[in-house]
Amino acid sequence: MTIEKVGVVGAGQMGNGIAHVFALAGYDVLITDISEEALESGRSLISRNMERQVSRGIIAEEERAAAMARISTTLSLTDLGPSDLIIEAATERETVKHAIFEDLGPHLKPDTILTSNTSSISITRLAARTDRPEKFMGFHFMNPVPVMQLVELIRGIATDKETFDTCLGVVERLGKKASTSEDFPAFIVNRILMPMINEAIYTLYEGVGSVESIDTSLKLGANHPMGPLELADFIGLDTCLAIMNVLHDGLADTKYRPCPLLTKYVEAGWLGRKTRRGFYDYRGETPVPTR
Ligand code: NAD
Repeated sequence: MTIEKVGVVGAGQMGNGIAHVFALAGYDVLITDISEEALESGRSLISRNMERQVSRGIIAEEERAAAMARISTTLSLTDLGPSDLIIEAATERETVKHAIFEDLGPHLKPDTILTSNTSSISITRLAARTDRPEKFMGFHFMNPVPVMQLVELIRGIATDKETFDTCLGVVERLGKKASTSEDFPAFIVNRILMPMINEAIYTLYEGVGSVESIDTSLKLGANHPMGPLELADFIGLDTCLAIMNVLHDGLADTKYRPCPLLTKYVEAGWLGRKTRRGFYDYRGETPVPTR
């Protein structure tokens, strides 16, 4: 199946990154959001991010202008009806996602492929509530989308081969690399990454090391570009906690128990970079460890 028109639901940090890379790859992109402000700020962020790519010589000015011209926005979800491929990147709440697919359903072409960028919700469960579980799958981009190479493709139990192969072809056209995951809690990247981050937080909680010594150990001792606590702040501590809860509930194994210190930071509203305080305090010129 040929994909040309792509509908993106949600203009937040992931939705705008997804629209950015699709438009640069030559797809026509229509983004929708319930918030006009999100659509406006999403579009201007895409423009600024592409300008930065031009100034770094990653893309040419003509490519930027052509890509921006391929992006349109709408407040009406049903305008996405004629899309060949839908990527849902709305808020990580299952009821929100079910409602989006339910409202879209009657307006879609019979062969439109539906996908979700969810980090943790069961693809099979989302698919089961649509009229086309065989044409539904997980299309999991990494943050920030224009920079990160990987896309995880997640097959639900009913996803057919044509749908999977079509999405794989799209990843190749985007110039990214795909990994394939079956539909189990947190898929592959977060199944491995989050328990490591959680263990780093336990290491801090038990007093084995300070924030600085834990991050330095992994950076210099395991050649990680960022320390695990620095990375947790970048991802968002609320997101880290939500993913640990999905692992803990979905796999019913105590080894996924979220560290009480992670819960404490989230309770305090210290969610990392986005609230300017997490394992580091970002309010000054340089980040200062908070423990
Ligand atoms: P975000 O909060 O930045 O953006 C979500 C957007 O969805 C908001 O603009 C909101 O207005 C919009 N929205 C909410 N309900 C909607 C509806 N009914 N219709 C249309 N738009 C609606 O969130 P995000 O970080 O961009 O995450 C979006 C999705 O991507 C989530 O499923 C998340 O799990 C997943 N994801 C996030 C990351 C990450 O690092 N943040 C990485 C991979 C995947």
